[in-house]
Amino acid sequence: MWPYPDDEVEVRRIQPYQANKPYLCPGCQQDIPKGMGHVVAVPTAAPDERRHWHHGCWEHRHRRRPGRSARAPRR
Ligand SMILES: [Zn+2]
Repeated sequence: MWPYPDDEVEVRRIQPYQANKPYLCPGCQQDIPKGMGHVVAVPTAAPDERRHWHHGCWEHRHRRRPGRSARAPRR
């Protein structure tokens, strides 16, 4: 799902005013609504593979356990 090591990924914070359209978060497979601040992760070796994540999903990307459904994003 996200095979890139942390030291090969550039992470940018997207402010709410910069979120001009909704994105699908690969961490929880749910939408990041337009206008919600989030992070974008850009693999330095493959910039086209960048993905937009909820803050919480990005922080917990290594702690997901198989068999558990996505939890609601923290607020
Ligand atoms: Zn998410």
